Amino acid sequence: MRRVYRHPEWCARGHACGLGEHRSAPHVIDVPGAGRIVMVRVLAEDGSEHAEVRGSVRLPPNEAHARRRLWRLLHDAISVLG
Ligand SMILES: [Zn+2]
Repeated sequence: MRRVYRHPEWCARGHACGLGEHRSAPHVIDVPGAGRIVMVRVLAEDGSEHAEVRGSVRLPPNEAHARRRLWRLLHDAISVLG
């Protein structure tokens, strides 16, 4: 395991730096009426990088449309994973 002590230029220099990882400031995308996505870039203690993504997506009241949106959300998320 490779510990990374130097802050990358994008590091927000928060409390997590002392715990062996570096985290960017959150990148927030708000789409009024549709949802919100929050993404943070992370350099892990072992030197690998990943993005943490969380958010909310508004679902239509119609059950079939809600399920279609959920399916599309999963499908698009999987396509990002490669
Ligand atoms: Zn840092």
